[in-house]
Amino acid sequence: MSRILILGGTTEARALCSLLAARSIEAEVSLAGRVPGTDYPLPVRSGGFGGAAGLARYLREARIRALLDATHPFAAAMPWNAAEAADGAGLPRAMLKRPPWLPGPGERWRGMPDLAAAAAALPAGARVFLATGAGSLPAFASCRDCRFLLRQMTPPGPLPDHVEVLVARPGATAAEEAALLRAHRITHLVAKNSGGPARAKLDAARDLGLEVLLVARPLLPPGRLFARPEAALDWIEGLA
Ligand code: NAP
Repeated sequence: MSRILILGGTTEARALCSLLAARSIEAEVSLAGRVPGTDYPLPVRSGGFGGAAGLARYLREARIRALLDATHPFAAAMPWNAAEAADGAGLPRAMLKRPPWLPGPGERWRGMPDLAAAAAALPAGARVFLATGAGSLPAFASCRDCRFLLRQMTPPGPLPDHVEVLVARPGATAAEEAALLRAHRITHLVAKNSGGPARAKLDAARDLGLEVLLVARPLLPPGRLFARPEAALDWIEGLA
């Protein structure tokens, strides 16, 4: 029997899996393999496919009938691999991506096309809360006249001396985040426009009048795009 392949790694993918499982729609979820795929209500496969060609082979061999890309909005490669592999095989394909954050009143956001642009926009002497993950540090390597506070959930490896790490989860409320930003005398926040509920840091920056350098999402391939798991489910249910 042929099935649906969900490219996951997000809250939205997990929600869609629950909807599919509740309707007994045959499907499986694929994860990159960096975090354990526990607690999914569907079969999980893990690890890269080996580029678009590897994914095309998997789609054929696993008799996949449609592909739903529900990877994170900052996953830059997978949406294009999915487009090449599924479109090339004539398989139905759609994307599920949470909507980006939009600025509200009082917000001092500057849109940045990428991390390099954010690094170039930081003024000398800035004290920066870097909410873009440890992987983004190389982009800021030349900002020696700025200080960086990086929050991550695992202890760091060796770091340059203009970077301080806080091993912690994101704060749940704007008040909690504001207290952290104040304690570290932060002047700028650098964040990715991931969207979703975790915007307490942005609310805190607004409340403190801080400038936010918000990095835009990578470009998506053309194709059907849904913002909500329920809409993706409707699309799947409408497939022949
Ligand atoms: P990426 O740049 O699009 O992917 C890099 C490579 O990882 C892909 O070429 C693919 O390897 C493999 N891969 C990615 N997603 C996969 C999936 N769902 N199933 C199987 N292989 C996958 O993505 P990334 O930014 O490295 O993110 C990796 C995963 O973490 C994604 O699933 C994403 O949803 C999740 N995630 C990313 C972020 C973020 O900020 N980027 C945040 C939260 C969660 P092959 O070419 O070998 O197939």
